[in-house]
Amino acid sequence: MGKVNRRKFIGNLVAYNATVIVGASMLMACAKDTFDGHCNQELEYLPIQDDNPAIAFWKKKCEECGDCIEACATKQTVFGTYLASSSKHVCIHCGSCIIECEEKALTEKYHWQDVLAAIDDPSKIVIASVSPSVRVAIGDYFDMAAGSYLVGNMVGACRAVGFDYVLDTNFSADLTIMEEAGELQKRIEQKTDMPQFTSCCPAWVKYVEIYYPSLLGNLSSVRSPIAMQGSLVKSYFAEKMGINPRNIVHVAITPCSAKKYEITRDELVTDGLRGTDIVITTRELAKMMKNRKVSLTAQTGNFDSLMSAASGAGIIFGNTGGVMRAALRTAYFNITGANAAGNLMELKQVQGLTGLKEAKVAIGLTTLNVAVCYEMRNAKVLLNQVINGTCKYDFVEVMACKGGCVGGAGQPAGSSKIEKRISSLNSADIKASSRYCHENPEIKAAYTYFLGQVGSAKSKKYLHTTYNDKSHLL
Ligand code: SF4
Repeated sequence: MGKVNRRKFIGNLVAYNATVIVGASMLMACAKDTFDGHCNQELEYLPIQDDNPAIAFWKKKCEECGDCIEACATKQTVFGTYLASSSKHVCIHCGSCIIECEEKALTEKYHWQDVLAAIDDPSKIVIASVSPSVRVAIGDYFDMAAGSYLVGNMVGACRAVGFDYVLDTNFSADLTIMEEAGELQKRIEQKTDMPQFTSCCPAWVKYVEIYYPSLLGNLSSVRSPIAMQGSLVKSYFAEKMGINPRNIVHVAITPCSAKKYEITRDELVTDGLRGTDIVITTRELAKMMKNRKVSLTAQTGNFDSLMSAASGAGIIFGNTGGVMRAALRTAYFNITGANAAGNLMELKQVQGLTGLKEAKVAIGLTTLNVAVCYEMRNAKVLLNQVINGTCKYDFVEVMACKGGCVGGAGQPAGSSKIEKRISSLNSADIKASSRYCHENPEIKAAYTYFLGQVGSAKSKKYLHTTYNDKSHLL
């Protein structure tokens, strides 16, 4: 978008916010005030503070096109809701601005050199945990077909770069579902805080904390897979492997900029330790490989055991609708005692690149209304329905990025590749030896030897979290 168009866009945005932000009159006023101030400033690029833990701005590369502003304002409905002339700017760290910036003037904040420094420190045990959608995107950097499923090559490359252990965050995706399906069942029985919203996207969680704090009780209290993986690496894994957790540097390899912010949350400190020390993106993993002259295709390997086994349900976490589909499989088992089959396995109604999707699902004598959405402009529709009492849904999945994490801001660029990545994860789910997280043998072992039961005091400590009203940031 050129400068002239951008100014026209900003003018339109005042009306946009005034009409879309309903049920929150304070924000309506704020949006208007903000835009009066903003237009006066003629801002050419999104204001990113130096201390933003997730996103970096490289001014010399910026061509002042304003595409970052448009993405933040229209897709995520954040820009335009705060006073841009102040020294503080609101950011949910989703990286929509990164995705839109063709000049690469906006990127994730780089931490890959910190990982190499830890690897080179002989006193440290450096453990990688890899998110579901990294394996279907890393090949883009090495001229492989879009969506190539490269789990063996990726694990081998991580070992060649120097990680001491390589674990699969899909394990904790399965664990997330064990806890979240249990929580859903409880809410349905008690008819409290419905609908239940998923909580694995930290950009979405921060959005609710800032803009809809009265609905924090609707967010699942379950930590994201990366947050769970971190707390268990420094407790369960360290204990079983005989490692002092204080010597561990746990690195999450993710498709996501917002995870860099998530690990700074004090609510995720357990036993005095941050579960995850460094987050790097798929893009940064490729940079590390290039730095250490590691070829992806020349490497192969298997994940280390204890926290890597995953069902097909954990694999599809990277896709829009994947968390919902995974949770319903286990909710079905919990309620009926039998494994889900047929339409419930694929649930095509909640798949695909439509921003807001819905389905009706029969589980035993209960019929659940569910919705799946990505980008905050779509989530806002549902949040406002909850506020005004017209929401018909029981369970809602929300992700910030188009297509879910496969389209995250730390992935190789190219929105045309998102569908191929989605198909690739769906194929891996179908081929998995089990498609139900409640059948995962490592999950069963974690409960037997460490956590106890779903929802136990120990599960609450290591697998759940709390949220805070952040409306003061506006
Ligand atoms: Fe990160 Fe996934 Fe949320 Fe995007 S959808 S911000 S990649 S967690």
